[in-house]
Amino acid sequence: MKKYEERYDEILTNIEKVRVRVNQHQIVKIIAVSKSVDAKEISQMYDIGQRAFGENRVQDLKSKVKELENLPIEWHFIGRLQTNKINALIDLNPTLIHSCSSLELAKEIDKRAKVKNRTLDILLQINSAKEEQKAGVMPELAIEIYDEIASTCSNLNLKGVMSIGAHTEEKRVIKESFKTTYDIFEKLNKQGAKYCSMGMSNDYELAVECGANMLRIGSVLFH
Ligand SMILES: *Cc1c(COP(=O)(O)O)cnc(C)c1O
Repeated sequence: MKKYEERYDEILTNIEKVRVRVNQHQIVKIIAVSKSVDAKEISQMYDIGQRAFGENRVQDLKSKVKELENLPIEWHFIGRLQTNKINALIDLNPTLIHSCSSLELAKEIDKRAKVKNRTLDILLQINSAKEEQKAGVMPELAIEIYDEIASTCSNLNLKGVMSIGAHTEEKRVIKESFKTTYDIFEKLNKQGAKYCSMGMSNDYELAVECGANMLRIGSVLFH
């Protein structure tokens, strides 16, 4: 058996169990969060079939993109984005930026995308549990901000929403935060929202139960 294969299968089975119970027609996509591993581990994960990887720092993404340029990997950016790193990120051609966390940031990304004559796929990050240490827009403003980005940022393609579950051991509270995100996602359906990115190593099954169709899984996959 190849490295990672066993736990990969186990995670896929766990997801599948919940998915068939909640929605037979829903495809759930896994983003393997590779921020704590090197190119070697990423290529081992690639060898067992994983194609989408997520990084949270532009600098790390840059070096891994370069090291793995021979593999047709789909790279996702999931971390806090500083204004001075936007140009570098655009040049790396990410498949999807999950972490657009404010209207101001969207405008900055759009401005630089226009200069480079590029269009970027992004998600709006929502701070569903209203935690001070977390980035993202407040849930009650999310739809308004989503519409504002859609109408003013012509070089951004909004593809949906992203959220990090509430930081607690209490399942009920985490579930509440996922539900908040999913409700917003549903309301944005007619505006073309396609992805609801939520759920990490500790709560991915709960996220699928609440309607997530994109999971960002790191530690349980790689360690
Ligand atoms: C690190 C990270 C993840 C993955 O976390 P794990 O608990 O290792 O699965 C997901 N999303 C974001 C934004 C992250 O920074």
